[in-house]
Amino acid sequence: MSTTDIEPVEDFQARAAAFIAANLPRIGATGGDNPVTRRLVAEGKDPGDHVLRAKALQAIIYDGGFAGLCYPVAYGGQGLTPTHMAAWNRACRGYDMSGLGLFGMTYGMIGPTILEFGTEEQKQRHIRGFLTGENIWVQFLSEPTGGSDLAGVLTRADRDGDEWIINGSKIWTSLGDVGDYGMCVARTNWDAPKHSGISVFLVPVHSPGLEVQPLRLSNGSTGFCQEFFTDVRIPADHLIGTLNDGWTVASRLLVHERNSVGGGSEYWQAPPTPPRNPDEEGEGIMSAPANLVDLARRRGKADDPRTRQLVAEAHTLAKVNSQLGPRVARAMRLGVLPPPAGSFLKLFNSSAAIRRNDIEFAIGGTPTAIWETDDRDSRSRGLGFLMRQAGSILSGTTEIQKNIISERVLGLPREPATDTKVPFREVKHNTMPTGDRPR
Ligand SMILES: Cc1cc2nc3c(=O)[nH]c(=O)nc-3n(C[C@H](O)[C@H](O)[C@H](O)COP(=O)(O)OP(=O)(O)OC[C@H]3O[C@@H](n4cnc5c(N)ncnc54)[C@H](O)[C@@H]3O)c2cc1C
Repeated sequence: MSTTDIEPVEDFQARAAAFIAANLPRIGATGGDNPVTRRLVAEGKDPGDHVLRAKALQAIIYDGGFAGLCYPVAYGGQGLTPTHMAAWNRACRGYDMSGLGLFGMTYGMIGPTILEFGTEEQKQRHIRGFLTGENIWVQFLSEPTGGSDLAGVLTRADRDGDEWIINGSKIWTSLGDVGDYGMCVARTNWDAPKHSGISVFLVPVHSPGLEVQPLRLSNGSTGFCQEFFTDVRIPADHLIGTLNDGWTVASRLLVHERNSVGGGSEYWQAPPTPPRNPDEEGEGIMSAPANLVDLARRRGKADDPRTRQLVAEAHTLAKVNSQLGPRVARAMRLGVLPPPAGSFLKLFNSSAAIRRNDIEFAIGGTPTAIWETDDRDSRSRGLGFLMRQAGSILSGTTEIQKNIISERVLGLPREPATDTKVPFREVKHNTMPTGDRPR
């Protein structure tokens, strides 16, 4: 499709707005007023199941011809531009798209990696498979022995005829309990140096031998999992990219991940969380602080100079965040910045989100730490505070982002390493604790 064939953004936005008004759930819509509920009831499925709801919402968007706005038409997408994506997100304001958070990783990280490295068959099958709402994907990267040193994975894949047999363990898998497929990094050559002996596989989560154990977090949620692979067999054609060159694939997956987390992905469709107030500008936790003003009023602090300063700081962070993403993403698309510059976004976004949580906590005061049972607002802020550090760990820790920026963007000397040139089997490492599964 040439750029002149692409639908003008104004026409697209009008078409999208009409579709959204007729087919998507308004925030707060319940029962028969909610198109997702209606669809699930008509299909004889449980309308209370949040995974089925997310999949039904995605299916409605696909059926309407709005799924995968920036994905190629050949694989079920719409072949449009990031400007169309921004118009779609604007048109969605006031509608409950929160379920699509379950597809965030799939859309923003896994999909672009399959587009880049997948065979034609893999692209046809898997891109369409998630655009239709059928499959949610997860990432099997981190291991109990460590997450930062991804090239040091101990999970192994051994070839047996037309199959690979995978053994080992992965951990901290977001959405591990709801995933249908996982992109899994495993060691395929123990005699090569660590970066040259790993490969990436597309693994059905419900494969025999793959046990998924939910982990409970400090905020009470169980969205994280540890997986144990015991002789998990997958067909040989589930390898993605070149054998033993999984480092290239995994590195690109992480670039897409940091872009997505930092708000610079052209593929991640829909805000990850709805604004708390549907009329509010912005998206999710970094949205403009109208709700902070409201909070300050409710706590009787609206005239307090310190509180006003904190609200202004949150507002500034939200503004910078909303402008940094598109700016850095554009610079990367034009080649002005190299792909690892996505780490700028990730670093800023996670630091700013922590600060935003601290500010909410400070303005919210005591009820944010000890809330009444029916005070859902304070509860949500208090639990958010408990989880605030997560953003500085996921997708590579803050220290790792700083290493990437210094080495791969600014060209400073690389961190010394003694384990990159020798066969991996000679490298000292922890052992995989597959025998002590939590019960
Ligand atoms: C909310 C959340 C979601 C996640 N989702 C997933 C997921 O879906 N899939 C998945 O596979 N993993 C996931 N993770 C795991 C995450 O990728 C790892 O926690 C992360 O890579 C760090 O690994 P680690 O916890 O093993 O810490 P380690 O790698 O053991 O690091 C420990 C500390 O040492 C520091 N450090 C390590 N190496 C260096 C270095 N070279 N220079 C300077 N400092 C260093 C780190 O910054 C850290 O402070 C998630 C984590 C979180 C918090």
